[in-house]
Amino acid sequence: MKIGFIGLGNMGAPMARNLLNHGHALQAFDLNDAALRDLAECGATACASPKAAATDVELVVTMLPAAAHVRSVLTDEQGVLAGIAPGVTIVDSSTIDPASAQVFAKLAEARGNAFVDAPVSGGTGGAAAGTLTFMVGANETLFERIRPILGAMGKNIVRCGDTGMGQVAKICNNLLLGITMTGVAEAMSLGAALGIDAKVLAGIINTSTGRCWSSDTYNPYPGIVDTAPASRGYTGGFGADLMLKDLGLAAEAARTAKQPIFLGALAQQLYQAMSASGQGGLDFSAIISLYRRGAAPQ
Ligand code: NAD
Repeated sequence: MKIGFIGLGNMGAPMARNLLNHGHALQAFDLNDAALRDLAECGATACASPKAAATDVELVVTMLPAAAHVRSVLTDEQGVLAGIAPGVTIVDSSTIDPASAQVFAKLAEARGNAFVDAPVSGGTGGAAAGTLTFMVGANETLFERIRPILGAMGKNIVRCGDTGMGQVAKICNNLLLGITMTGVAEAMSLGAALGIDAKVLAGIINTSTGRCWSSDTYNPYPGIVDTAPASRGYTGGFGADLMLKDLGLAAEAARTAKQPIFLGALAQQLYQAMSASGQGGLDFSAIISLYRRGAAPQ
């Protein structure tokens, strides 16, 4: 299939490479020339705008930081909606608020296009391995149509409901992730301060009731998980500012639903403090620097 792919960051680049590896033809765009060049070297056609990337394709995928970026990529003069043919579906895998996804679906519908929210979980490792979980907001017919394409980038492709419900699932998951990462950072730091070997403590947690993804796959303490950002100076991975954005999305959604999120609000403030100290570009597991001075690079 010929696919337009826009947004080649930490997640988008490996996802696009998996589409290429599955034999799809890609027309790609990113504001970052180096990212675009890298993907072109893997066989994609580099385009000069979202409009060009969306012209003469059978599907468009976007993987952008936040709703404002999705809006501009869709609606700018050189945007996707200016180039896309009627009937072609747009799949947005960015994490954005459910209400914006519903607005974008209406904008696309007015041009004869379907817009599907399909945010992902699994991190950059899952993106590279093609094992992401896709949380899809779409009607059943549309879901069945795009499922094989998403299968080139992910392992669990789940329909969560109609438009916006993929984003609801995603922000609830990331609300929990923000909290569990903070909890693991707190427990590992306390253990280290009390003198236990960090590897021994992690081993106990990971075979005990405290075990979670933040402890066994992405432990924030350096040297516990070789493939985790903590073992490479908190680079790559999932930026703390993106986690802060997601906790903000959860807080706003909770406000509209009149639903309390006590721990989420506290986690949001902790990531806010991290961002304010200039560490928002580091992986979110560097939240451990709030507990261990000098743990993360400044
Ligand atoms: P990133 O910041 O690494 O990449 C975003 C890319 O979008 C960059 O290459 C940037 O140049 C590009 N971009 C920004 N504005 C653009 C525009 N107007 N036109 C074209 N390109 C533009 O972000 P990421 O880590 O790849 O995350 C992307 C999305 O996926 C976010 O919504 C994030 O919350 C979500 N997410 C990230 C992870 C993770 O582990 N990194 C996991 C799950 C979900």
